[in-house]
Parts: sequence; C-alpha cells; structure tokens
Amino acid sequence: MEIINRRQRMSSVARKIRREQDKSIGLVPTMGALHEGHLSLVKEARQMCDIVVVSVFVNPAQFGPKEDFSQYPRDLTKDTALLTDYNVDYIFAPSTEEMYPKGFSTYVNVEGLSDQLEGTSRPGHFKGVATVVTVLLNTVRPDFAFFGQKDAQQALIIKRLVRDLAFDTEIVVLPTVREESGLALSSRNAYLSNEEHEAAKVIPLSLVKAKEAYKAGERSAGKLADLVRKTVESEPRARLDYVNISNTESLEQLDKLDDQPVLITIAAFIGKTRLIDNILMNSGVKKKDSLVKV
Ligand code: AMP
Repeated sequence: MEIINRRQRMSSVARKIRREQDKSIGLVPTMGALHEGHLSLVKEARQMCDIVVVSVFVNPAQFGPKEDFSQYPRDLTKDTALLTDYNVDYIFAPSTEEMYPKGFSTYVNVEGLSDQLEGTSRPGHFKGVATVVTVLLNTVRPDFAFFGQKDAQQALIIKRLVRDLAFDTEIVVLPTVREESGLALSSRNAYLSNEEHEAAKVIPLSLVKAKEAYKAGERSAGKLADLVRKTVESEPRARLDYVNISNTESLEQLDKLDDQPVLITIAAFIGKTRLIDNILMNSGVKKKDSLVKV
C-alpha cells in the first residue's frame, strides 16, 4: 500500500493503472477516523474493483464557520493500519493546500437537492461536498465510487452531480452500518459521553417506530413525523433539528403516503453533538438496508 499526498502523483498513478494495466479502480472518499461503516464501503470496493483507493481528507469547505472542523477526529496512523488489513492499494491523503491551492475559485453546486434538509441546517455544506468530490473524481477517475446511505442526501446529490456533469464513474450506495443498539456508526459518535451515547439510541428508535407505524397502515406523513418528534423529545439529552418525510429521489416532502418508496431523514442534537440518520420504507431494496449491525 502506498500513501499519496499529491494530486498530481495520484492522477498519474491512476492513469497508469487504467491505461497500462487495464485495471478497474474503486474510490472510497472519507474524512478518516474510520469505523465499520467506512470499512463496509472498502470491503465492497475490494470485491468489485482491481485497485482500491481510499481518500482521507477532512474537507474544510463542507464545514460551516461555527462547526467542528478543528475538533473533527483525525488519526491517519490508525486509519492506515486498518486500511492495510483491508488490502487497500492506495490511500490518498492530501493536505488542504494540495486540494485547494492558492487562488482556488471554482465551486460546484447541485441546485435544488442541496437547498433542503442538511442544506438548510448547514448552508454551503453540499457546495463543499460537491466540489471536493468533483476534484477527487477528476484526480482518480475511478470506475466506481462508494458512498453510504447513512448520508442519504449526500448520496443523491453525488449521483445527480455525476449524471449532470457526465463523469465516467458509477456511484455505488451501500446500507448504513449500525451498532447493536441501532445507532448508526459515525465518526462524530466519538464526541458523545457514555450517557449521551446511550441517549443517542433514541434517534434510530424514532425511525423504527415510524416504520412500524407505517407497516401497521399509517399513511399520514404528518402523523409519522409527530411520532418521530415525540420519541426524540422523550429523551432529555436529545433535541430534534428536523424530521422530514420525502420522496427517495427528489427529496420532495410528502403529505399523504401511498405505496411509493419513502425516505425519513432526521437530524438531532445529543448534547452538543449533531447526528443524522434515515430510514427507507417500501424501497424494494434489500431488507437489511434499514438495520445492518456490526
Ligand atoms: P465521512 O468520513 O463521514 O465523510 O464518510 C465517508 C463515507 O462513509 C460516506 O459515503 C458516508 O456516507 C459513509 N458512511 C459513514 N458512516 C456510515 C455508516 N454508518 N454506514 C455506512 N456508510 C457510512
């Protein structure tokens, strides 16, 4: 395994792999502090592709001025050890200056999809995401790039970006990996105290309750949202930021549900830590989508 810090070196290594060795490349973009959620993407990439590149870059452009960019957990030594065990071929770990050289002034904005949910709570977040993913895709030019359903809105935005700007990369979205308690794995779970970690279980619980109510025949989006809200509010350490019940592709908010696929997304603070989660209903996708546990 090689760790690459320079964009130019990453491009030329990838070009050689494609042209001279005629091998397929899989890219797994991450911000490091790797956990089983990230590793599920790496495993799938390892199975599907000849060469696996994992990028580790805490992208300043996707953090707001009052967000946790400086505290965000970073441990490249530990990440490298993990990725060695998973037979990754290259880690691309550029510096901020390498990704955003002096004078950088071109940003990518996926309109519409970026302006709701996380985009409302975190203005500019998806512009940062879309821009960094564009640079990564252009640097590596992978055949496949792997993303988690955990960040459902991000996955939709990236699929749209790739379609609209005609990138020659197929986007693969994989199920959310969860703890036994149901809590979705996240690098930000490291911020939680033991008590907060316990309290955070209310997030997946609220989604499961909504899904159960849906299965039992509830078709009012308002009532399902109320159920999520009440469940979260039953936990004193939790504060709901938003719950949204929408079409799985357009994110268009739904009122009355019929038998179309539905996405429930939630963001909640547990103490000072903001966590997101979501559940798909009626998607026709593998059942394990909603409850994969490590
Ligand atoms: P991040 O390092 O948080 O930017 O995440 C990198 C990638 O890992 C993104 O595509 C995430 O959606 C994905 N990811 C993060 N947490 C999970 C999880 N619990 N299950 C599956 N994928 C995840």
